[in-house]
Amino acid sequence: MNTEHDTTTFDSFALHANLLRAVKDLAFERPTPIQALAIPPALQGRDLLAAAATGSGKTAAFLLPILNRLMDRPKGTTRALILAPTRELAAQITEHLDLLARHTRMAGAAVFGGVGAAPQEAAFRRGVDVIVATPGRLLDHMNNDYARLQGVEILVLDEADRMLDMGFLPDVRRVLANLPKARQTMLFSATMPTPIVTLSREMLHNPVALNIDRKSEPAKGITHAVYPVADDLKPELLVELLKRTQYDSVLVFTRTKHRTNRLADLLERRGVPCTRIHGNRSQTRRTEAMAGFKDGTFRVMVATDIAARGIDVSELALVVNLDVPHLPEDYIHRVGRTARADATGVAITMVSPAEEDDLRAIERHMHTQLPRNHLSGFDYRSRPAERFEVPIGERIAEIRKRRAEERARAKEKAERKAEHLARQAPTPLHKAEPRVAQTINASRGAAPRAPGGNPPINRWRSGQRTSGRR
Ligand code: AMP
Repeated sequence: MNTEHDTTTFDSFALHANLLRAVKDLAFERPTPIQALAIPPALQGRDLLAAAATGSGKTAAFLLPILNRLMDRPKGTTRALILAPTRELAAQITEHLDLLARHTRMAGAAVFGGVGAAPQEAAFRRGVDVIVATPGRLLDHMNNDYARLQGVEILVLDEADRMLDMGFLPDVRRVLANLPKARQTMLFSATMPTPIVTLSREMLHNPVALNIDRKSEPAKGITHAVYPVADDLKPELLVELLKRTQYDSVLVFTRTKHRTNRLADLLERRGVPCTRIHGNRSQTRRTEAMAGFKDGTFRVMVATDIAARGIDVSELALVVNLDVPHLPEDYIHRVGRTARADATGVAITMVSPAEEDDLRAIERHMHTQLPRNHLSGFDYRSRPAERFEVPIGERIAEIRKRRAEERARAKEKAERKAEHLARQAPTPLHKAEPRVAQTINASRGAAPRAPGGNPPINRWRSGQRTSGRR
């Protein structure tokens, strides 16, 4: 924590009393360093280029100045736009905004994919004060007349480095091209890779640079522990660690959706209340997973990196990396889920022999060696009953086999149905007529069909009609 700013208080900022009330409601005692540095210039309308990691309190650092600026403006125009890389982050920023704006008339709306577009369209149409959007869904709306953003005075680009990783920069540039040039812009990024620096030059005017010299590093207050273990034994080691600890909310990261599913299935079988979040799950399922994790229904949430971006759960005491992240920045982001805003937390990383190089890169980045641990009493030589990760080739073969079986079953069913229909089908008319005719004629007391003559049904019909006309 930067001691220079430790004495700063929220009251010392020129913030509206109703915003300060909301800050008090949230029990924020004093500004975090990024808030202390960012809020004063942002309140003056300056552009910002802020290197701030997740967990630093960056959201309130841009939301408070936005809300303060829009406080007394007429309603009915969207004046602030916040771009975020993921749905979860957009939802989380909107939630934070609702809390900070609770004593004002201002409102925000989240705009992201995977959910219905109609409420989002309605928010555009009524000119909601602040829109928090992911770039893809925003561009979809921008193809329509109702989503004009010419009233935007403030733009925030949050987690810009993650936008870059996810390939969103072209979309971001397209959005930018449609915004008014005269505006205040704030760019927040945990790291500053070259494309982000280039983008910042394009979009910022004379920005105030914050923490720009600082290399990204995990929040203070995190205890890091590394457990070397064979890949197949990682789930068992996790089960054992969970048995021996009391942590209420544990977030576990894995490298892939497959590993997320495998681990969550295994934990469920072991009776650990557990939910999962990854890119293949619908927005509804993800929201449910988050809610269940936050309210304590699930002790463990298993997640992939991208899905976990933006997860905001207070008092998350333990983060587990089931797999070593490939990039040091991802390690920082993952463990940033614990020890947020100066609390304390534990980050456990399981490292298989194949992952040692990635771990060393993380240690170099952090200028430290992370302590190796050994869980006494855990059988490191045991063989798990089943493999943890099924190789992709086998999985594809399994899927093909299943599909082939499904196709064969569907074919068999169709054949059975066709056979059944054939049995039930009415006899073709030319064969049926004599029988039908006989029945009808019999009921009318008519004579049976004369051999070689016209079918009696026709004669009877024409005879009836003829006689009727007479
Ligand atoms: P963020 O980095 O914006 O995602 O914030 C991380 C967490 O810190 C969130 O749960 C915030 O509610 C919390 N937070 C933000 N500012 C403060 C503060 N000044 N004091 C205590 N907690 C804060």
